[in-house]
Amino acid sequence: MEAEKSSTEWIKHLSLHSGYFHETLRDWQSVGSTIDASQLIYPLFISSNDSTKEEITSMPGQYRLGLDHLKDIVAPLVSKGLKTVLLFGIMETQMKDTSASNYASEKFNKVIPAVKLLRDSFPNLLIACDVCLCTFTSHGHCGIIKDNGTIDIKATTELLAKVALVYAEAGCHIVAPSDTMDGRVKMIAKILDTHGYRRQVAIMSYSAKFASCFYGPFRDAASSAPSFGDRKCYQLPPGGKGLALRSTERDIHEGADIVMVKPGMPYLDLVQQIKAKHPEFPLAIYQVSGEYAMLYHASKAGAFQLEAAVLEAVTSMRRAGADIIISYFTPLLLEILEKQRKK
Ligand SMILES: [Zn+2]
Repeated sequence: MEAEKSSTEWIKHLSLHSGYFHETLRDWQSVGSTIDASQLIYPLFISSNDSTKEEITSMPGQYRLGLDHLKDIVAPLVSKGLKTVLLFGIMETQMKDTSASNYASEKFNKVIPAVKLLRDSFPNLLIACDVCLCTFTSHGHCGIIKDNGTIDIKATTELLAKVALVYAEAGCHIVAPSDTMDGRVKMIAKILDTHGYRRQVAIMSYSAKFASCFYGPFRDAASSAPSFGDRKCYQLPPGGKGLALRSTERDIHEGADIVMVKPGMPYLDLVQQIKAKHPEFPLAIYQVSGEYAMLYHASKAGAFQLEAAVLEAVTSMRRAGADIIISYFTPLLLEILEKQRKK
């Protein structure tokens, strides 16, 4: 009787509130879920036309940028603490063909001079380049297509490795293959090694990338929607939990330095599982264009306040296990962090 009483005695004095009534106490309760500028990557769309500065209709506040405007956009962000950018090239339709042959042309693929410009202007900025073929192919698929309509894996992975090498030679620090083909991380690691870049260029693999409707605004931004079919044969089905774990395993085995889950919020269960399985690898999450548009438009419609919603969204990603967050909200998040520092 006495033992029973003492086992329930503690509940009389229980308070969870006592553990988080002060802001610093709340920070202590959130260790591992807080955001730091070094965890953020800002994606930038580099236009093939140097004078372009064009707002992307489906992603308000985001731009297609020509080289002439790049420094002006990046400089204030760097002064607010921006550490990393991820560059995507945008090519005019007439520069594309079925064999992606203009990938190495500085004239057409302005990511190459953009890397050089950013390296010269911001010596401490970490520069990542998206590596895929859909930027350069006239059909908009991420690989070379055989006559029978299937992906030619050998030709595709060989070409992806060459694209990665072009960016490594330009001076980028990270290559980020987003195509999802089997064997491409291995081919990239091999070509970087052969040319002496394996220890100076990291591979951030889009290892668990789902065939998602949330990419819609990006395809508008990068003009990269496939002209026929879809990407369901190489991107993962939304329910494909086992495939996400296996594709992460595959890319780690092939030599990835950093792995990724894309999109973000709808796939946080996998972020948690992958982090638990591979705590030794930095895990990135890509908060994609559709997530950006969704939060932006919901706040515009008065559903909630944007800053609070963005902060809660990225906190959920950190809590799930993401070490790195690729987000179009990076400029806003840097402002939020600046305000928090000044408090
Ligand atoms: Zn692609």
